[in-house]
Amino acid sequence: MEREGLLVPARESRGIWTLTETGSDEYRRHQGPIAPPPQPTVTRERSIDPLQPDGNQSPTRVEVTTQRIVRSTAVAEYVKRIHDNTCQICGTRLSTPTGAYAEAAHIQPLGRPHEGPDVPSNVLCLCPNHHVLFDLGMLHITNDLVVIDQHSGTPIGRLAERPGHQVERRYLEYHRAQHG
Ligand SMILES: [Zn+2]
Repeated sequence: MEREGLLVPARESRGIWTLTETGSDEYRRHQGPIAPPPQPTVTRERSIDPLQPDGNQSPTRVEVTTQRIVRSTAVAEYVKRIHDNTCQICGTRLSTPTGAYAEAAHIQPLGRPHEGPDVPSNVLCLCPNHHVLFDLGMLHITNDLVVIDQHSGTPIGRLAERPGHQVERRYLEYHRAQHG
């Protein structure tokens, strides 16, 4: 290609092989017209429920900038390990192919306006369901560690404790005050 005048050799252009004007024309000639990308054939069935959203076949991506609190994985992992990934409220231990799954729930939430500390005594080991219910204030825990269903006001059990992990009562008090 160099002999045919299609390429500028690397030794003559700062170490990079480049196409000459003729080379570029040759390249375009071989490439031919650019074919439009194949359109996906989508057969959309009429939704039975007129309120059912059509959704989006190709959701777009947007770039967002977020600020989040850097919480200690060591604290969360410690509490989950002490409880062997068992929910302190219901005793559920979820087994997954990658090991048992539990969530670390902060009693007094981190960040504004709560500014709870990221320490083991402010963290519970919960199953996902009880994590959500606790965060939404559907459950509260008395200083005697009785778990109360907020809606009915009835106790549903006792928070399980294990040696090496003690919950500080002031965080429970904060949580109760937050959710009436
Ligand atoms: Zn649970």
